[in-house]
Amino acid sequence: MRLSPGDLSIQLPDVADGDTSAAVGRADEAFERWRTTPAAERVGCLKAAQGRISEQKEQLARGIALETGKPITEARGEVGAVVAKIDLAIADAKRHLADSTESDCTNPNVIRRRARGVAGVIGPFNFPVHLAHGAITAYLLAGNTVVFKPSPLAAGVCQAYGDLMRESFPPGVFEVVQGGAAVGQALVSHSAVRSVCFTGSVAAGKAIAGATADDLGKDVALELGGKNAAIVRDDADLDLAATAVAEAMCLTAGQRCNSTSRVLVDHTVEARFIDLLKQKLATFVPGDPLDDATRLGPVVTEAARRRYLDTIAQPLDWIVLGGAPEQVAGNKRGHYVLPAVARAEAERAVGLELFREEVFAPVALVVPTRSDAEAVKLANATDYGLTTSVFTPDRDRFLKLADALEAGNVYQNLATTFSPSTLPFGGWKSSGNGRPGGRGFVRFVTNEQVVQMKA
Ligand code: NAD
Repeated sequence: MRLSPGDLSIQLPDVADGDTSAAVGRADEAFERWRTTPAAERVGCLKAAQGRISEQKEQLARGIALETGKPITEARGEVGAVVAKIDLAIADAKRHLADSTESDCTNPNVIRRRARGVAGVIGPFNFPVHLAHGAITAYLLAGNTVVFKPSPLAAGVCQAYGDLMRESFPPGVFEVVQGGAAVGQALVSHSAVRSVCFTGSVAAGKAIAGATADDLGKDVALELGGKNAAIVRDDADLDLAATAVAEAMCLTAGQRCNSTSRVLVDHTVEARFIDLLKQKLATFVPGDPLDDATRLGPVVTEAARRRYLDTIAQPLDWIVLGGAPEQVAGNKRGHYVLPAVARAEAERAVGLELFREEVFAPVALVVPTRSDAEAVKLANATDYGLTTSVFTPDRDRFLKLADALEAGNVYQNLATTFSPSTLPFGGWKSSGNGRPGGRGFVRFVTNEQVVQMKA
């Protein structure tokens, strides 16, 4: 039985596992016709989907908030991004899918992009519609057909999104199959699935990479976790830095791949920064996700709440004490948690689980640093490489630091969560490959074919 994480008195409908082979079979059958459908018609279908999704914006946002606990204002932002993504994807397709030719080859030639076939898209719970949708739009525009397996923690809202999409395309072009890890494995392992886009944890990403390793023609794009650092230098605007860190810790209750979970602060400004951070975090009061005023919702499941409780029970120097209130305003019972911050000197910090592993809750570790070089070394000292923020007003200093940082996205004076759909997004190292998260993923979803004719 699934319960709403923000109100345990609300039971969510159970969704039965789908039939993966039937869904892939329909998508496979539809592929040849869809691949040869003129690009303008494919764009027309997507614009029709955009219209349908726009009409259902509020219901979809409510569904996200009810099922995942994401505050309604954030959920509205997610659905707004879904609508906007369609125009960005169309612009990307125009830019990246056009044929080209090499004039210094003596033979007439065309370099063109061909759709791969059926794509399997697997989504996480934290942006249950938006992240999958980014990949889905790119695949469809390039002439692939798609089978989407959403997170079982957001099955209802993803079904609603899926219905709106399915109505907008010819039969079989877009399919949804519900289920958990076993259904995900069946989907990625299916021989007719020629491309996979997965967003989720490193553990599941590794299981998918393993399951597909023998099929060398199957491309696998992975968007995985992060252990994102905010670097606060001695010349930083501390109020700005503390505001950005608090926000990036608490958005989606710290359950974003790009949440801030490590703060590497220059020792000369540490005390002032921590005072400000405490003040900013105090404004994130846990509340009902359906309330417009709520900025900190619950974590998604009882297991996630337990993981948080285990983390804050560790014998560390906790400078902001966490906790898990049983109840919040309006007498709502749910998986509520408070922001928590620990502090450790660098030598001890690097060995801590809190420094290396995602907790996926509003928890961060503050580590004092003594130079730019030490801050970079610590920022890079994890297996992840998704986003890093640097707080300094000095552009040259920032660019020098950025050059040494092992992260797919780096920001000056912006939160680690500042990842607009108008730019590419993706991780290095264990944070993933293929950059499916943002702009330009359409480049990944085709095979390049070089056609040459004798002069
Ligand atoms: P998860 O890995 O538990 O599940 C993600 C999806 O994979 C779900 O649909 C799940 O049913 C499916 N799945 C799980 N195990 C599988 C397996 N062995 N084979 C096939 N499918 C499987 O992740 P989650 O808890 O839903 O999401 C949180 C994780 O996602 C975090 O690690 C977060 O950092 C990451 N994430 C990354 C990005 C990014 O852009 N890099 C964005 C959002 C979330």
